[in-house]
Amino acid sequence: MADCIFCKIASGELPSDKVYEDDEVVAFRDIAPQAPTHILVIPREHIESAAKISPDNSRLAARCLEAVARLAASEGLDGGFRIVSNVGGDGGQTVGHLHFHLLGGRKLGERLA
Ligand code: 5GP
Ligand code: ZN
Repeated sequence: MADCIFCKIASGELPSDKVYEDDEVVAFRDIAPQAPTHILVIPREHIESAAKISPDNSRLAARCLEAVARLAASEGLDGGFRIVSNVGGDGGQTVGHLHFHLLGGRKLGERLA
């Protein structure tokens, strides 16, 4: 999708610190990390947010979560981690392309909001 920075990162048009990619999923380190491990996992296909997950594309969301699980292991997050997907303005979403934050590497705060 034109003007979507995560589509451009997925295609390689914009640079990123990629930690995983295959034909459907890309993972890269967040530019402003909020924890020692802060990775963004996205589908290559432009899906606006988790609010747009449907029977037509849910397989891609599942593939993102498979990547999250693998990356958590390879990052050594044996003590646990957090998965976050912000949706819309109230949810704090700033990039309109579905992404899962993988956060870990320290004891995370108890509050979610
Ligand atoms: P959101 O606020 O939509 O849940 O998350 C967007 C995330 O993308 C933020 O954590 C932000 O730091 C990250 N981000 C925004 N622009 C870029 C970029 O160009 N490269 C990378 N690697 N991360 C970005
Ligand atoms: Zn996009």
